[in-house]
Amino acid sequence: MIKSKPTIGFIGAGNMGLPMVKSLIKKGFEVKVYDINPNITKKLEKDNIKAVNNLRAVASNQFIISILPDTQNVESVYNSDTGINSYLKPGTIVIDMSTISSSSAIEIGKNLQKKQVEFLDAPVSGGVKGALNANLSIMVGGKKVTYKKSLDVLNYLGENIIYAGKLGMGQVFKMCNQIMVGSHIQAMCEAFALCKSKGGDLKLLKETLIGGSANSWMLENLGKDVIDKNENAGFRIDLQLKDLKLASEAAFESGVPLPGLSLVLALYLEARAHNEGKNGNQSLFKTYDRMSNQK
Ligand code: NAD
Repeated sequence: MIKSKPTIGFIGAGNMGLPMVKSLIKKGFEVKVYDINPNITKKLEKDNIKAVNNLRAVASNQFIISILPDTQNVESVYNSDTGINSYLKPGTIVIDMSTISSSSAIEIGKNLQKKQVEFLDAPVSGGVKGALNANLSIMVGGKKVTYKKSLDVLNYLGENIIYAGKLGMGQVFKMCNQIMVGSHIQAMCEAFALCKSKGGDLKLLKETLIGGSANSWMLENLGKDVIDKNENAGFRIDLQLKDLKLASEAAFESGVPLPGLSLVLALYLEARAHNEGKNGNQSLFKTYDRMSNQK
């Protein structure tokens, strides 16, 4: 007998959520979407995606997936009186794919467990491209048995789906990911700043470095945007800053000094102070232009 696909209630159709919803629909899932922004709801309807205007209307599905900007948004959905919890039925599987604090994910999971609702923290890496191509990396924390069940859905969103460990561990893995992402962008900007100051050809530098041991995902995917001064956001400066702050707080909790992280965090704060929070991550290079008085 062919197993039918589970139904999905999806919360948050932004840069990441919308392409994920489209992938799921393309693969034959029945998806109902809720986004707090009515303009997004209208856009979804235009695209013939089933959009609803309240959380209750997504709660009756077998899986609930959310991908929201930050901890407060996720808490307002799962840990507040006006949230979704009172509508969820025992046996529902909730997968939060936002990047939020690990301790908050643990608390949300414990609260849902009291209602026999299963919960996974499953943040992602791979950006909007990964969401569009359904080849995200997904780092999952929670009960292993729930993780195994979730593969019925996650396999259609990602390619590299890792069971990171107990509840909250998905978020810890994601923080580690973001520490490296931030350091790799900073390293690229630093190399480009020096080359530019000497009148070097940045395009040629990029191709040269891609061919050697300095290569990185950042260089391959965002190097061109730095050179073209394309500030359009896939991943915004303010979201990266949020992630670096989460990592920094977690490191403080554990008493682990991470000096590289502190440096990168300061550079991102500089960018935000220049009203560049809505720009894409690659626009960190403007900070280097300012520091070296280059245009
Ligand atoms: P986004 O701001 O583009 O989208 C978030 C969506 O959530 C918006 O449409 C917003 O209206 C909606 N929303 C906010 N609060 C809500 C609520 N209470 N109920 C329902 N909808 C609500 O953000 P994004 O870029 O899609 O990122 C989402 C998450 O994914 C973040 O945690 C981010 O750190 C993570 N992430 C993003 C990327 C990326 O490249 N953009 C990559 C990896 C991980």
